[in-house]
Amino acid sequence: MLVSGSEILLKAHKEGYGVGAFNFVNFEMLNAIFNAALEANSPIIVQASEGAIKYMGIDMAVGLVQILSKRYPQIPVALNLDHGTSFESCKKAIDAGFTSVMIDASHHPFEENVAMTKEVVQYAHSKGVSVEAELGRLMGIEDNISVDEKDAVLVNPDEAEEFVKETKVDYLAPAIGTSHGAFKFKGEPKLDFARLQEVKRRTNIPLVLHGASAIPQYVREAFLATGGDLKGSKGVPFEFLQEAVKGGINKVNTDTDLRIAFMAEVRRVANEDPTQFDLRKFFAPGMQAMQKVMVERMQVLGSAGKA
Ligand SMILES: [Zn+2]
Repeated sequence: MLVSGSEILLKAHKEGYGVGAFNFVNFEMLNAIFNAALEANSPIIVQASEGAIKYMGIDMAVGLVQILSKRYPQIPVALNLDHGTSFESCKKAIDAGFTSVMIDASHHPFEENVAMTKEVVQYAHSKGVSVEAELGRLMGIEDNISVDEKDAVLVNPDEAEEFVKETKVDYLAPAIGTSHGAFKFKGEPKLDFARLQEVKRRTNIPLVLHGASAIPQYVREAFLATGGDLKGSKGVPFEFLQEAVKGGINKVNTDTDLRIAFMAEVRRVANEDPTQFDLRKFFAPGMQAMQKVMVERMQVLGSAGKA
């Protein structure tokens, strides 16, 4: 059933588990996400970026989710706009049927971030839609980084407390050292868990981890085995994801893992049979591979069995 983001995340916040927020750009990704939710009996958040919306058309993005959520009423699902850049973009998503929007004004000065988020919250809440915002900059941190440098990029717990009080935002993405894409850390993976716990204590709302793909060994190897190149890639290890959930993370954004798992299968089929041109022969195993990654992730985050 299609519900608001808060409905899914407040339960996760109360019971202390994480829910995967999986990105989709087409039917295949979305279908794999729903199949994983069914297999693991897990709630899900599905999300589309502005780029994905442009690719699919906003009516298609919403329509696909509505059809699948009707087909599987036992699965609680929220549809989130990932990294909305403006009030207009969030409003468009809300009016089209999204049940959650992220307004990402984190690159603006604090006061401006507050003002933009507040405006989105007011409109969204009047329509029963939940809102996510972000504080700090998404960026890997290294061992030799100074305290000052850390304070410049990571979330400030004082600001987080004030931000939530001012904006009434429903969930917050605090920057604690992750980054987007397949190349998250230069050295050893490192996240600021103490800072995360402090933000949780001060805000007491669901928190969001962006850039949380793990790139498990078997996914990396499947891609490399096809001649693919992922040199130097590094994800967030499962132990870190679980530590983050313990520290208060309830929404775990995952995109890169799905892309790599899917494309490894497409590449494998293309390599194995150069005469093949039936789309389904590529996409069916791609969906299977993504589904496996997500079922495992739901178990790691603790959302399995919580639908
Ligand atoms: Zn993100």
